[in-house]
Amino acid sequence: MKVFKFGGASVKDAQGVKNIARIIQLFENDGLIIVVSAMGKTTNALEEVVRSHYYEQGDWQAKLDEIRAYHLSIMSELFANPHHIVYEEVEHTFYQLRLICQTKPEADYNLVYDRIVSYGEIISTRIVSAYLSDVGVENTWLDARKLIKTDQNYRFARVNWNFTEILLRQAIRNPESRYVVQGFIGSDDNYHATTLGREGSDYTAAIVAYCLDAESVTIWKDVPGVLNGDPKVFENTVLLNKISFSEAIELAYYGASVIHPKTIQPLKHKGIPLMVKSFVDPQSPGTVIENGSPLDPMVPCYIRKTNQALLNVRTTDLAFIVEEHLSQIYAMFHRYGIRVNLAQNTATSSTFIINHDPVNVPLLLDSLRKSFEIDYSEGLVLYTIRHYSESDIKIFLQNKDPLLQQTTPTVYQLAVRDV
Ligand code: ASP
Ligand code: MG
Repeated sequence: MKVFKFGGASVKDAQGVKNIARIIQLFENDGLIIVVSAMGKTTNALEEVVRSHYYEQGDWQAKLDEIRAYHLSIMSELFANPHHIVYEEVEHTFYQLRLICQTKPEADYNLVYDRIVSYGEIISTRIVSAYLSDVGVENTWLDARKLIKTDQNYRFARVNWNFTEILLRQAIRNPESRYVVQGFIGSDDNYHATTLGREGSDYTAAIVAYCLDAESVTIWKDVPGVLNGDPKVFENTVLLNKISFSEAIELAYYGASVIHPKTIQPLKHKGIPLMVKSFVDPQSPGTVIENGSPLDPMVPCYIRKTNQALLNVRTTDLAFIVEEHLSQIYAMFHRYGIRVNLAQNTATSSTFIINHDPVNVPLLLDSLRKSFEIDYSEGLVLYTIRHYSESDIKIFLQNKDPLLQQTTPTVYQLAVRDV
């Protein structure tokens, strides 16, 4: 079986849903599990409903009406018959949402969040599944809340792999058939809906593939695949035909929005290839991420990370910075959840490039001041080039005033002021 994932952008309008059907028709000989996100910006809109309901502020009813109108307008382009069963299914879902919003919210915000936000995917999959059936793509609609079992860490739920595998294997009886299932959502032991973290549908695709030993996962996107840099930031970017899982994890670590490491890990573990392909041009090969594939083409990969800050920490008495100091400093980074992106030491000082965080950084600085002298400067950007050459660095440094640079055999990093 293959696992396909379609994100919010691919189902943001009726054309998108029709396009999914066209893509699936290209794979007529494959058993497929089709993982679908909420349509367009529905998750953001439902987040607003949650806030309004929970804090009893604003008009959740009006927001819900807007979300309903958006879906009904897509449906009117897909289903001409006003008595089509899908209208009943979707209306029933909005009825359930209204019931939830009419009752007094439970104390736990995150639980309420998951209960409401999870409906975005329920609605989108109802529509996609019904449309596929209408155009002759037979399929079974599955409820991920009965299959993806998690703990109660609402909004960031962790998967119970064993239980999930058993349930998925029971549900997917026929590996030659087509199944439509929601991304992003699951449920805890009490069957309360849970979510896996924003943008979690890719992760669902990986979970399903892992549990069912799928042949591959394909993420269908509005870009041709994974590029060697963000085209909005860098010129002359090229498509990467192949990358290894390890390379993809490294790129994500330095800040590339390739694929989330959480999605990669289960696939890497089982050696299931991950394809990133264009839903606009489904015949073109896109990018393949798999075990052991050397980067192809072997080009430098560029990453720009904004909202960075430089922190310089010195001993107060000009003593050497030793392991004891460093472990004390890193313990504070850990305590305040500060991510270090680059570190350099001299005899009496350490310099770090960190993510600036307006809430936690002041707390960190207060703690550090008790034992060290410090300087702090925000408003920086960190560039990373993997697989650089000397000439890349020269071109890159033109008109830039480096505050901190570091090179390893594969990675060059440069922190500059964000202008
Ligand atoms: N709909 C969810 C979100 O927007 C999950 C996803 O799109 O992957 O975060
Ligand atoms: Mg989404």
